[in-house]
Amino acid sequence: MKTLVHTDQATIEEAIRQCQVCSVGMVDTDGTPYVIPMSFGYEENIVYLHSGQEGRSISILEKNPNVCLSFCTDPKIVFQHPQVACSYSAHSKSVIGWGRVVFEEDYDEKLKALNLIMQHYSDKTFEFNRPAVLNVKIWKVELQKVTCKEFGTSPHKN
Ligand SMILES: Cc1cc2nc3c(=O)[nH]c(=O)nc-3n(C[C@H](O)[C@H](O)[C@H](O)COP(=O)(O)OP(=O)(O)OC[C@H]3O[C@@H](n4cnc5c(N)ncnc54)[C@H](O)[C@@H]3O)c2cc1C
Repeated sequence: MKTLVHTDQATIEEAIRQCQVCSVGMVDTDGTPYVIPMSFGYEENIVYLHSGQEGRSISILEKNPNVCLSFCTDPKIVFQHPQVACSYSAHSKSVIGWGRVVFEEDYDEKLKALNLIMQHYSDKTFEFNRPAVLNVKIWKVELQKVTCKEFGTSPHKN
């Protein structure tokens, strides 16, 4: 089966919007890699994430804000021949992006980020109380580079 490379920005953004989870990869100063799954929001080439104020990820990012983000749409198992293992594939779009985490401090920008994250998962509108907004850590990642591949295309059967 074919693997397609997508470079069209609209296709890439559509793929990101179809994903439920963003895997955030970072590297500690001793070179140890650390990857965590996170919920996210997306708008105009910026990925918005949120967390508590402390933890392993925060202490790594304060020293090294470089991240690699990975997104994957729900895979659908496809095959060309049911008895041929190597003809099986997962039809899915996958996006990888690189950037640097900036912790947003501006109140209105934090509110915007929280709304974008919620909009990614729900059609509802939400109110956020001030202490909650002040307490949350907002991570902004402007994507410096992004690649998108679609796997498992052109199957004969599903
Ligand atoms: C689908 C999904 C969505 C999530 N969305 C968010 C989100 O939007 N915001 C958010 O803050 N968190 C989210 N989480 C949790 C997130 O993956 C981390 O666990 C969390 O952010 C704490 O990270 P930390 O580095 O501060 O961990 P710490 O609390 O400092 O972790 C201590 C240790 O626990 C282990 N650990 C931490 N996280 C995980 C993990 N996910 N899986 C296995 N072991 C772990 C590691 O060994 C780490 O060294 C999500 C998890 C899932 C599964």
